[in-house]
Amino acid sequence: MKTERGRPVGHALFSDESEITLRMISVGAAAPSGDFIAERLAAAIAYRESLALDATAYRLVHGEADRLPSLIVDRYGDYLVVQALSQGIDRRLPEITAALARIVRPAGILARNDPRVRLLEGLEQKVEVLHGDVPERLEVREGAVRYLVDPWKGQKTGLFLDQRENREAAQRYARGRLLDAFSYNGGFALSLAPRCDSVLAVDISADAVARIRENAARNGVANIDVREMNVFDELRELERTGARFDTIVLDPPAFAKNKGAVQKAMSGYKEINLRALKLLQPGGFLVTCSCSYNVSEAMFLDVVAEAAADAAAEVSLVEKRAQGRDHPILITVPETYYLKCLILRKLA
Ligand code: SAH
Repeated sequence: MKTERGRPVGHALFSDESEITLRMISVGAAAPSGDFIAERLAAAIAYRESLALDATAYRLVHGEADRLPSLIVDRYGDYLVVQALSQGIDRRLPEITAALARIVRPAGILARNDPRVRLLEGLEQKVEVLHGDVPERLEVREGAVRYLVDPWKGQKTGLFLDQRENREAAQRYARGRLLDAFSYNGGFALSLAPRCDSVLAVDISADAVARIRENAARNGVANIDVREMNVFDELRELERTGARFDTIVLDPPAFAKNKGAVQKAMSGYKEINLRALKLLQPGGFLVTCSCSYNVSEAMFLDVVAEAAADAAAEVSLVEKRAQGRDHPILITVPETYYLKCLILRKLA
């Protein structure tokens, strides 16, 4: 890649289908070394080891932020789950698989190449074993909580690993009656349950609800009620019946998957935050998240402030958080800061 004056800018992966034609892999005239992929994988893995995370599942490679654009590698105990989300990385999967097998020595590597973004690259959606064997179910631990994970069909690569540190942070405030809205397989619900009197977990997916119940039993969590419901309807219903909570978690899916959806997404965020703030007791905590990279932190703070004003709630900001440290942000690529997590306290 060259500047207008013909000076080399750097080297990039090329896609002949995507709107993202070039993904930078190096800057300056020199080409990346022949085994730059293996070197960067090793560096990314060494960084995760240095974090000494209290979990057996975490992200080993986070795309751009590990200088391996559009490559995701997640670790689930002895297994790895890989996603190749551009033509350039997809073509290098054999080399990536060989390097991962050598560095990590996993029992199996699964390619979860079913995200829809692959279609924008002209790549097919497929799930296949690249190395060893990968079971349909495997068990991992995050802090004190054990989860059964389905790496073949679970959302993302199986778990929402990016929320691990936000779950840890939320434990500092959780108490009383907890509402975990958009709970998937119970990430927040199960890690906060020991600090709460009772837990209500809500998710629209029958699979997710079955998983929460299974994981609750596995962890001996008995104070939990799980409902298969649309959160928008359930919040309205809870308001109608006069329910109140001391701790609420809102962790919806990305409402704005593209720039065109931002306006509608903002009204979705406004609605759930407004209703949650009404359901929250004074002195209670709201952990509210947005994983839409098209909604910036400033926009998210604004919409939550509007919700507080409309709910006539006085609210203080206790913590402003992002995705965990195993999902680092590349500061020159703002899209890599996608997960915002605000911990708020309702004063009155
Ligand atoms: N909090 C979870 C991750 C949530 S992901 C964790 O910590 O692991 C978002 C979840 O929202 C998904 O499980 C999805 O099934 C669910 N979902 C999407 N739209 C919903 C809706 N309208 N009502 C309820 N759940 C919904």
